Amino acid sequence: MVEFKICTKCNDKKEISEFQIKKGKYTSSCKSCVYANHKIWLLNNPEKLKRYRNNSKIWHSKNAEENREKKEKIILEKKAKNLCKRCGTSLFDRILIAKYCPTCKKKQKNEVWNKNDYIKNKKTYQDYNKKNRAKINLRDSKKEKTKREQIADRYVSKLLREKNGYTVDQLKENPELLEIKRILIQTKRLCKTSKN
Ligand SMILES: [Zn+2]
Ligand SMILES: [Zn+2]
Repeated sequence: MVEFKICTKCNDKKEISEFQIKKGKYTSSCKSCVYANHKIWLLNNPEKLKRYRNNSKIWHSKNAEENREKKEKIILEKKAKNLCKRCGTSLFDRILIAKYCPTCKKKQKNEVWNKNDYIKNKKTYQDYNKKNRAKINLRDSKKEKTKREQIADRYVSKLLREKNGYTVDQLKENPELLEIKRILIQTKRLCKTSKN
């Protein structure tokens, strides 16, 4: 059976769980009245309110620090238990989601690649391309457009190679060519817009 009690503040009949227990006795006013009272009292005592807020801030930051330490401890414990799924070496110095040590990871990757039928993959890839030709073209032209708009390195380099006859090596040796070309393109575009 649920016990009830009448709050002396709001005069409401409330379940006993709505009252705090102090010194082994239920308080005369209910929890919400106590809380509201406390709030009013704090508002009337700005100095106390300030101190109250500061204290709770300190408490929260201390708590956060403790939580962080706890989390770190858990991670360290998990890392200590994390072993390579193939050779069993410890993966302590690696990220937690790592399943294999670097050597085994490489082996695993090669094996998966060998297992997969290369020709079959190629066929699927080609089929996909054929089916989605229009979509891929649109995507490529969009990419090309942004490259053009942003005068990206790749775009400038392409122009230099295709229109000015530079080789990749020449461009690598003279990176300033890219900068000069970029400025030329910008000037050209500016002239065009000012004419319009
Ligand atoms: Zn009440
Ligand atoms: Zn391993």
